[in-house]
Amino acid sequence: MKVKQLDRTGNLKSHISINIVADAIDLNHIYVYCPICKKTRYSCKPVLHIHGSGGNLNNRLESRSGHCENYNSTFNIAITDDTIRL
Ligand SMILES: [Zn+2]
Repeated sequence: MKVKQLDRTGNLKSHISINIVADAIDLNHIYVYCPICKKTRYSCKPVLHIHGSGGNLNNRLESRSGHCENYNSTFNIAITDDTIRL
């Protein structure tokens, strides 16, 4: 069984809202490198979170619940001209 991290207030998970530009998008998925997740406590390698794109490659804003392991996160994902189309 995995042990969840406790935050400073002792809650199992704190809620966090993240505004971020998607790194990449294709017809199936939106790819976002998470600014708060770490692969392990000893690694600072970025963790990729993958969301469904609904077959839409247009610039837009998507609000999704995050896939962060240690936080209840909401991602406000901007798909912009900086987002790579795969
Ligand atoms: Zn995350």
